[in-house]
Amino acid sequence: MKKTEDPQRSRKVEDPERSRKVEDPERSRRVRVRYAPSPTGVPHIGNIRTALFDFLYAKNQDGTFILRLEDTDRKRLVPGSREIIQESLSVLGLKWDEYYEQSRRLDLYQKHLKILKDQKLVYEDQGSWRFKIPKGKTLKWQDLVHGEIKFLSDVLEDFIIVKSDGFPTYHFASVVDDHDMQISHVIRGDEWISSTPKHLLLYEAFSWLYPAFIHLPPILGPDRKKLSKREGAKSVIEYIDEGYLPEALVNFLSLLGWAPKDDREIFSLNDLTREFSLDRLNKNSPIFNGEKLNWFNREWMKKIKDDRLAKQIKTLFPQYDLEKIRSLIPLVRERMKTLLEFPKMADFFFNRPKISNIPKISLSVSLIADVISVFEKSKVWNNSVIRKLIEETAVLKKIDRIELISAVRNIVSGSIITPPLYESMEQLGQEETITRLKNYVKKK
Ligand code: GLU
Repeated sequence: MKKTEDPQRSRKVEDPERSRKVEDPERSRRVRVRYAPSPTGVPHIGNIRTALFDFLYAKNQDGTFILRLEDTDRKRLVPGSREIIQESLSVLGLKWDEYYEQSRRLDLYQKHLKILKDQKLVYEDQGSWRFKIPKGKTLKWQDLVHGEIKFLSDVLEDFIIVKSDGFPTYHFASVVDDHDMQISHVIRGDEWISSTPKHLLLYEAFSWLYPAFIHLPPILGPDRKKLSKREGAKSVIEYIDEGYLPEALVNFLSLLGWAPKDDREIFSLNDLTREFSLDRLNKNSPIFNGEKLNWFNREWMKKIKDDRLAKQIKTLFPQYDLEKIRSLIPLVRERMKTLLEFPKMADFFFNRPKISNIPKISLSVSLIADVISVFEKSKVWNNSVIRKLIEETAVLKKIDRIELISAVRNIVSGSIITPPLYESMEQLGQEETITRLKNYVKKK
């Protein structure tokens, strides 16, 4: 796997010599990346793109991908969001190596609060603890996406690090944890840029090295505004439920803000893990393009193994038998835009259409009876034989072949659109095809 030496890693705010004495120099060589969502709702795909980039960088560098739930803002917790976050990652194959919940780590934050109290860097305010901002300081870092970013400490206000309920705020818990978990790279959305100077001050207060920062520009809608629900601010789970393949979502998201070396577009998670690098992250916001997502979905439906596609369909439509779904994959895979179209395309393989639902047939019932007897006589049943039988019957009975095909299609499938008819009838089997034709004749 490719190793890139990254000059920006683990810089100290100032006085690097002092910090070297307390830091283990080895720690800065290991790549450890965390995705740190707050369980305050359902993460949309923009959040999950951050998780994807976290994962890809960690794995590209043979490093560790950490999932850390930042659940210390107790008022904002939304029940169930922890599970949805985990499911969103799992469904895309983003396996985390370590898992933490901040609410279980309160002792650690208290211990660190005490260090700051002892140094008189904090003061109590209505039961909470505020960190004192030193005046006249320039706080800067080399952001690996944006380059140098600078803030003057004078623009910051003393901020709360531990609330009166004893829980730490985001800033404090996140810095203590990033240090404690030996995070080498913080990759997060660029709405956190304005928090970073506060974090730098905390690193400095503890004489800790700080990690490399990578702030990702947000994905924008086609109107270049914040992504709206309609245009993509949906969860991964919603996309899966709408019939998108995890492979397509991963591929699509990976190219929102990152570019490969060449103009290849199709990447599996493994390909991405191999190719991903921070230096091809884009400074500008990527634009969400739903059509492109549909394109990726179709490409991946063509590409993945029958078995994999069948299983994904089965999770969406558990009523269908898996083996049977698998046997239908060659017939349907290039004909669906999303997996949601499977029933429309293939339900008739599983269920006989109701006679009342059969679209109008232009041929007489006696002609259908003739077709039945031709079919009954055939010893072989495969698509080329079926074609021959239909063509011969059309000639013999002096009817239009297309008309005959559409009559048979309507009866056996209950629909005017199906996968190729002869292959479909082969799949359905001789006996079942004949039964359906007979039922039609009987009821007429
Ligand atoms: N808990 C923050 C969030 O919800 C994490 C930000 C960060 O990665 O530092 O996005």
